[in-house]
Amino acid sequence: MSQQGYVATPPYSQSQPGIGLSPPHYGHYGDPSHAGSPPGMMKPAGPLGAAAPGGMLPQGPSPPGPQQFGQNGAHAQGHPPQRFPGPPPVNSVAPSYAPYSPSTQSSYPSPASTASVTQMASQLNAMHINSYGSGMAPPGQGPPGPPSAPLFQGLPRPPQPSIMQPGSQVLPPPPTALNGPGASPLPPSTHRQDGLPGPAPLNAQYQPPPLPGQTLGTGYSPQQAGSYGPQMAGGQLSYPGGFPGGPAQLAGPPQLQKKLDPDSIPSPIQVIENDRATRGGQVYATNSRGQVPPLVTTDCVIQDQGNASPRYIRCTTYCFPCTSDMAKQAQIPLAAVIKPFATIPSNETPLYLVNHGENGPVRCNRCKAYMCPFMQFIEGGRRYQCGFCNCVNDVPPFYFQHLDHIGRRLDHYEKPELSLGSYEYVATLDYCRKNKPPNPPAFIFMIDVSYSNIKNGLVKLICEELKTVLENLPKEEQEETSAIRVGFITYNKVLHFFNVKSNLAQPQMMVVTDVGEVFVPLLDGFLVNYQESQSVIHNLLDQIPEMFADSNENETVFAPVIQAGMEALKAADCPGKLFIFHSSLPTAEAPGKLKNRDDKKLINTDKEKILFQPQTNVYDSLAKDCVAHGCCVTLFLFPSQYVDVASLGLVPQLTGGTLYKYNNFQMHMDSQQFLNDLRNDIEKKIGFDAIMRIRTSTGFRATDFFGGIFMNNTTDVEMAAIDCDKAVTVEFKHDDKLAEDSGALIQCAVLYTTIGGQRRLRIHNLSLNCSSQLADLYKSCETDALINFFAKSAFKAVLHQPLKVIREILVNQTAHMLACYRKNCASPSAASQLILPDSMKVLPVYMNCLLKNCVLLSRPEISTDERAYQRQLVMTMGVADSQLFFYPQLLPIHTLDVKSTALPTAIRCSESRLSEEGIFLLANGLNMFLWLGVSSPPELIQGIFNVPSFAHINTDMTTLPEVGNPYSQTLRMIISIIQQKRPYSMKLTIVKQREQPEMVFRQFLVEDKGLYGGSSYVDFLCCVHKEICQLLN
Ligand SMILES: [Zn+2]
Repeated sequence: MSQQGYVATPPYSQSQPGIGLSPPHYGHYGDPSHAGSPPGMMKPAGPLGAAAPGGMLPQGPSPPGPQQFGQNGAHAQGHPPQRFPGPPPVNSVAPSYAPYSPSTQSSYPSPASTASVTQMASQLNAMHINSYGSGMAPPGQGPPGPPSAPLFQGLPRPPQPSIMQPGSQVLPPPPTALNGPGASPLPPSTHRQDGLPGPAPLNAQYQPPPLPGQTLGTGYSPQQAGSYGPQMAGGQLSYPGGFPGGPAQLAGPPQLQKKLDPDSIPSPIQVIENDRATRGGQVYATNSRGQVPPLVTTDCVIQDQGNASPRYIRCTTYCFPCTSDMAKQAQIPLAAVIKPFATIPSNETPLYLVNHGENGPVRCNRCKAYMCPFMQFIEGGRRYQCGFCNCVNDVPPFYFQHLDHIGRRLDHYEKPELSLGSYEYVATLDYCRKNKPPNPPAFIFMIDVSYSNIKNGLVKLICEELKTVLENLPKEEQEETSAIRVGFITYNKVLHFFNVKSNLAQPQMMVVTDVGEVFVPLLDGFLVNYQESQSVIHNLLDQIPEMFADSNENETVFAPVIQAGMEALKAADCPGKLFIFHSSLPTAEAPGKLKNRDDKKLINTDKEKILFQPQTNVYDSLAKDCVAHGCCVTLFLFPSQYVDVASLGLVPQLTGGTLYKYNNFQMHMDSQQFLNDLRNDIEKKIGFDAIMRIRTSTGFRATDFFGGIFMNNTTDVEMAAIDCDKAVTVEFKHDDKLAEDSGALIQCAVLYTTIGGQRRLRIHNLSLNCSSQLADLYKSCETDALINFFAKSAFKAVLHQPLKVIREILVNQTAHMLACYRKNCASPSAASQLILPDSMKVLPVYMNCLLKNCVLLSRPEISTDERAYQRQLVMTMGVADSQLFFYPQLLPIHTLDVKSTALPTAIRCSESRLSEEGIFLLANGLNMFLWLGVSSPPELIQGIFNVPSFAHINTDMTTLPEVGNPYSQTLRMIISIIQQKRPYSMKLTIVKQREQPEMVFRQFLVEDKGLYGGSSYVDFLCCVHKEICQLLN
């Protein structure tokens, strides 16, 4: 392992080993890619970063009454909010950062009791190693009585009692050359770790088995850490190119029989189910600082009581180390995954809208933080101290209110910005471009009408569908019709603009042949109100497929298409979104012209990163222009061969758009998936022309950002648009000491334009704990958020660093985090034991999934475009999506209880969990597979497919037939539930055991060794353990 390389290479530098000896050089992935873009953006310079509007405020508007805030989506209306949680008793005493006393509703468990129960359960679970297998019934049997899936559980429900026996398992000595493959685990001994003092860790103790001789030979020694991953030679020898075929091979890598029982190592399923059992179906109130929320896989009702819902912000840890030395020692990334527009279920309160009229939001004079629960009112309410920078500010006269006997404003519970973690402000003109209200956004549909798209019917399909989906353009809740205007462009080598003004009898086409410098040939009649121009638009959509029916044009342009859309929005002075439907590599002579540069020879070389970089800088500067004008680009790609996704996808990625890709699009197989995506994308909640700013309390700050964003400076995160599925991951670093008593505060402010054309600020606040005890830090970690961070930082680094180096860094950092815990937090035990903190029990398995992802580890069946595509997708994922993406959900279907509406309990993603008699459904957010064992029960096959036997099943289908029986209904319901919350429509593939497509399916069994490299979970755990031992020595 080239240790030197890390230190010498700034962009993805890495820690040095030696915990506690010399503080490691803290990893920083740095990114030259877009951060250094030239200035010249046309964003408003002021509100988010610069001076607050109006130092001199008008005197005495009457104190804000209920009319000053209403439900989000409604303008300040006269009625008081209906779903605002009722104010607790006025006399309840609470500290400033936990303004709420525990909920007065008796059916809700108090936060304290929830915490302790959870903690106890985790503790017991952590010690009860043998329970890890319990989620995995032998094939053919029903899943062991898990808690019913919380999805369908009723509201508040007390935590279920955990009945477990403390105990821990001590496994045999560490992997050394002395331990031959024959060494067997010692029987479990029981020793209790009770009476742990507060900060003491909750441990799960494992010890890997002796490594088989072969494994020792091929190497997990630290020197060869680099060979973890790409050591495909062996794999390829065993599994040459093609599909191995028979069941024998499917049984997995031959006979490296693991001595470690997979059931004895931490199971992601068990962790997920335990959290569901203890926290599912309950109300989670955000009333205390630093509390770790339920896992993303647990359904609960979230009640905002002063901190942003975890639906909006999730952190890698909810307790920051007090000093940077501690942070460097632990190497746990300090990061927040922020999804500012996250969808909130209907049983939770939507954001309130605060309107201070011309006064605008109240902000700290020094740091410009917005009024929030972290501001401390003093001097009888005349002044307040900012929780972020400690500046003492005068309360503006219009905002004055008296304090009660505990120093809290009398209107505390009437004002969202004083009592809630999340809320919105109506922005004043100071927050608008050129100080004038924005125009509502526009959607422009841009269809590639080259030969192949006409020929395969795609153009006709799109045009037909648009007629329906345009009826559902998003609108403000209180509005009758959508304010969004629409426009249409078709293109191949040239561009065709259409005039669809409502008074025309026929649409008019204007052709722009100068693609070198695109101009917009018409203003009036290009962007129109759909309802007004409906007949002209329908006329146009009917005509387009005919118009180009005889076209033989194969060549297309691409950059000029985006340019045209952006210019049209610019001319109309509005933000908006381009929907581009494109199929081919743009080879026509024009800016952004691309050549086929897909070079498999670069794989596994230091130049592999080139495959992920755009081919030309045209797209980068185009993206910058788009962001500057609030132009978001969403791209629907239908490639039949290499189209250079790394180049074409750059603008969608950097403008907050979405890239959808349908390989070898076939009308009968793929149109449903595409149409679902199109509908969903048009209708989804979205904010335009956004700037996000993260403010923090003193002692730390946001240093790095990952997502569909563009940055011209180090603080303003610019987004042409941001929708409900996009998340930005933010990394924090210390710049001073943090104090345990004041904690670490984060405020995320997003200034944006609504679909109705209103300028607003969306504020999310979160308070974290700080501690000088490493154990506190480890106790408050969230593995799902950690993996989101690691994935994004690694996928960003892919552009600049050899993949091998990145994989090494990930492995090392994993080992480092765990070694630091072992050294500083775990109770004394044999050096050979692997001890994982409770909060990171499944970090190794998830990390291994990340390492095996095709972005970091190439596989012959995955194209360059697919890798670039997955890289871009992950960059904007929220925590729930990245969790599912890296560790797919695998559900047994043959044991379905058709009387239950709950999802069956998932099983671990491993071949060994499947059975010939079983049927299993696998989903990862992009793909869905229904795997059928060769001996699947005929009655189930009949029930699901309406055919008599396995052999009769037609795998050439992407939706299941509607067969009128409970199996069919239940399975289809499960599929729709899994699909429901996900941003991408998953294509269903039917896979029969021992048939060719099974190879693709097997790549999703992420606990197994990969066909073309990539360790099994067991092997990886051994590898990590060995690294830890090395570090501790
Ligand atoms: Zn301040």
